[in-house]
Amino acid sequence: MKKLRVALLGCGNVGSQVARILLDDAGELTTRVGAELELAGIAVRNTAAPRDVELPAALFTTDAEALIDDADIVIELMGGLEPAATLIRRAIDGGATVVTGNKALLAKDLPGLSARAGEAGVQLSYEAAVAGAIPILRPIRDSLAGDRITKVMGIVNGTTNYILDAMDTTGAQFDDALARAQELGYAEADPTADIEGHDAAAKAAILATLSFHAPFDLDDVHCEGITAVTADDVAAAREQGMVIKLLAIAERLGDGNGSEGVGVRVHPTLIPRVHPLAAVHGAFNAVFVEADNAGELMFYGQGAGGKPTASAVVGDVVSAARRVVLGGPGRTESTTGTVKALPIEAVSTSYSIGLRVNDKTGVLAKIATIFTDRGVSIESMRQIPEPVDGDDPGSATLRFVTHQGSEAALAATVADIEALKVVTAVTSVLRVEGN
Ligand code: NAP
Repeated sequence: MKKLRVALLGCGNVGSQVARILLDDAGELTTRVGAELELAGIAVRNTAAPRDVELPAALFTTDAEALIDDADIVIELMGGLEPAATLIRRAIDGGATVVTGNKALLAKDLPGLSARAGEAGVQLSYEAAVAGAIPILRPIRDSLAGDRITKVMGIVNGTTNYILDAMDTTGAQFDDALARAQELGYAEADPTADIEGHDAAAKAAILATLSFHAPFDLDDVHCEGITAVTADDVAAAREQGMVIKLLAIAERLGDGNGSEGVGVRVHPTLIPRVHPLAAVHGAFNAVFVEADNAGELMFYGQGAGGKPTASAVVGDVVSAARRVVLGGPGRTESTTGTVKALPIEAVSTSYSIGLRVNDKTGVLAKIATIFTDRGVSIESMRQIPEPVDGDDPGSATLRFVTHQGSEAALAATVADIEALKVVTAVTSVLRVEGN
């Protein structure tokens, strides 16, 4: 039987689980592939470091290049831009099939790497790069290849979902929920990439590229994290029958000149509690897809963690290995579309705006005039007349939810309202989806 040599680059959270599956399930994988998958070696920085899984010491090396040059399939699970990018290019140019989970690298240059793989006639697979174990990229790329996707909206970062869910279910402040997430291992010691939305933005760029068949990168993604979300925002959302989630959204939009563009954004978002994404709790992920013919689809599961992510990686390995056995060129992405990224100002959305105002006659009329002048229509308004705190007896809280309007008009409305003397504070501005 044919033997395929597999080089594994990286043996951390995910790599160690991939090595375990390749070794423990070798017999079954051989049957599925029609060839033996031989783990030829594992490249790491420190060959003596302890690993999550017991693995033969002889497999470890620091010479990634030698390993790649002798491999049929290269699995890159080191992370980061370099040396991962150089090593992946080396593998492609040498004719190896490549599997990676490196969202940071793909968000920077998915079209470039994909084109290079196409020219070399090899396959580049990366299901693990978005939403861990959840099969989402292959369904978008293959199952929906005959449809026209109009919108993709997902919870693609488990850390922020854990934090926001904890704030919603326990009433915790952001800092306390983050500290708990760190204690439980859901958040890194330096949580910046998660809580500032950068990780979700990388995934949004990849989802947009595959969904709209055109190249999008990190610079095309409008990104806001969750650090400004307060326990009051979460409580107010609850009163409104909504919940706050960090969503990655990519959607087709008119560009105002008769053409079509794509808005790609990541920000904390209010969604109704009856929306399917509202039922995604803890560190779970889910992606909601809307397509012309398929209608609405939802994909749900574990978005991170060594074992779940390794499942997606090994799935890619088996699928790519079958192609190597059968022969023929690797599947490439269709990123030749011309649809362009639009700035956030072009996006159409609705806002929930919280204000603290002087509780006087005429205040509401002044605010309503601003909405009218800016062409933004109000869907609902709620006034909470009680004093907000003891030393501020003449205040009231107003909460508006608008109908859909252009982001530019909504932002201008908020700026005008903020400038009113009777408005003492704009306490929150959150975009609303799915209402
Ligand atoms: P990790 O735990 O930090 O492991 C990284 C591994 O790469 C380590 O074994 C490290 O070697 C090795 N490495 C790093 N730089 C290297 C270099 N210059 N030369 C040789 N080896 C090097 O990372 P991870 O969490 O497994 O993530 C791996 C990839 O999967 C990343 O791209 C990540 O974004 C992606 N991913 C991870 C998850 C998840 O849940 N963790 C989910 C989805 C996607 P040493 O051990 O010797 O230091």
